[in-house]
Amino acid sequence: MDQEHIVIVGAGQAAASLAIRLRHGGYSGRLTIFGDESHPPYQRPPLSKAYLKREWTVDRLYLRPTQFWADLGVEVVTSAPVTAIDPAAHTLVVGGRTVAWSKLAFATGTRPRPLPAEFAGLKGVHELRGLADADRLQDEIRPGRRLLVLGGGYVGLETAAVAVAAGLSVVVVERAPRILERVACAQTSAIIRDLHEGHGVRILEGRSVVRVVTQNDAITAVELDDGQSLPVDVAIVGIGVLPRDELARAAGIACDNGVVVDGFGRTSAPDIWAAGDCAVFPLDGVPTRLESVQNAVDQAECAADDMLSRARAYAPVPWFWSDQYDVKLQIVGLNRGYDAVVHRRSERGQALWYFRAGRMIAVDAINDARTYMAAKKLLEAGTAISLAEASEEGFDPVARMRRPAA
Ligand code: NAP
Repeated sequence: MDQEHIVIVGAGQAAASLAIRLRHGGYSGRLTIFGDESHPPYQRPPLSKAYLKREWTVDRLYLRPTQFWADLGVEVVTSAPVTAIDPAAHTLVVGGRTVAWSKLAFATGTRPRPLPAEFAGLKGVHELRGLADADRLQDEIRPGRRLLVLGGGYVGLETAAVAVAAGLSVVVVERAPRILERVACAQTSAIIRDLHEGHGVRILEGRSVVRVVTQNDAITAVELDDGQSLPVDVAIVGIGVLPRDELARAAGIACDNGVVVDGFGRTSAPDIWAAGDCAVFPLDGVPTRLESVQNAVDQAECAADDMLSRARAYAPVPWFWSDQYDVKLQIVGLNRGYDAVVHRRSERGQALWYFRAGRMIAVDAINDARTYMAAKKLLEAGTAISLAEASEEGFDPVARMRRPAA
C-alpha cells in the first residue's frame, strides 16, 4: 500500500497505550483502533470495585475523553469486531469490509473461561469482564439477596467485598484447596480469607458445584460436592480467563496460550506485533502471559517502539494490585517457583516476601505501600535480598533500598 496505516485490533488498555506511544514517538501516518465493544478504551480494574459500587460513572472509566483520540489523530472504531486477518496480503476484514494495513498489532486481551455447562444460559448468572457485564451485575446488587461467587480469584473476591458491603449475603465457592492459590502463597490466602470472613462472607474452599437448581430458567440454588445446598438469587462466575488469540491462530500466526511474541512484541508474522493480556513473551527464559495493567501498558509501549524501529527489549518487574474493603493488596515480582516465604509485619501493615533458591523474587504487601515501593525498587535495581537478610529482626526494606550499592 502507498499510505502507511497502523491498525490495532482490540481497544483496551494495551491498544490505548500503543496508539499514544506511536503518536508521541513521531508516527504521523494513519492510525486506527478497532474494538468490538461499544466504548472507546476504558479501564477494567474499577469494574469490580468503584464502578460496581456505583461510585464511578462511565465517563470516569474512559482512559481518555473521546475528543482526545480525535485530537491525536487516532480513529477509534467501536462495535467493530475484526473477523479475519491476512498477513500476506496485509489486509483485515471488519464489518464485511476489507481494510489494508502496513503494520498491525493484536491487543485483543482475554475472555472469561466458558461458563460451566450447568450455569450456561441461566437468568441470574453473570460474568464480569466488560462494562456491559458490570452494568448488568450492578442491577443485581441489592440488599437482602443471596450471592454465590464461583471462583476465589480477584474477580470473585472483589465482587464479594462490594456485595457484602451492599447488604447481600455472600458465599464464595472455590474449587482449589484455597482462594488465590494460583497467584499467592498460603499466608496471603489466609489473610484475605480472614478479611472476608470478618466481613461476613462465607468462604468454601476445595468445594465444587455438582448441581444447579433452577426455576423458570433462573438459578435458585446450588448443591455442592459435600452435600450442602445453598440458596442463590444471583451468581457471579469468576473462574479465570483465556487469551483471545483465535484471529491470530486462524491467520497462521504462532500461538500457544496466547499470541507468541519475542521480547520486542513481534509475532511470527512480519509486520505484526501483539501486546497485553493476549501475548505470550519470554520472561527470564520462560514463556509468560501476564494479565495486568502494568503489562498492558509497558509491553504495548515496547511494541510501539519496535514498530518505530527503536527496538527495546521488554523485561518487566511485574506488579498487580487488588482493593478489597479497606485493604490494598499490592504485589510486585513473580512468585513462580518460590521455595520459601518470610512474613513480616510493620506498624504500617504486613508483607509476604517470596524467595527462590535464597533470593527474593516477589512481595505481597498488605496495606503497606512503603514496603511495596521499596521491594519494587529493589527488584528493579536487581538488588539481591537473601532469605537470611529478610529474616533479620531489624530488616527495613526502605532503608535497604536507600543504601547505595556496594
Ligand atoms: P483467576 O484469578 O484466574 O481466578 C479464578 C479462580 O477460580 C481460580 O482460583 C480457579 O481455580 C477458580 N475456579 C476455576 N474453575 C472453578 C469452578 N468451576 N468452581 C470454582 N472455582 C473455580 O480469574 P478471575 O478472578 O476470574 O479474574 C479474571 C482476570 O481478571 C484475571 O486476569 C485477573 O487477574 C483479572 N482481574 C484482576 C484484578 C486485580 O488485579 N485486582 C481484579 C479483577 C480481575 P483453578 O486455578 O483451580 O482453575
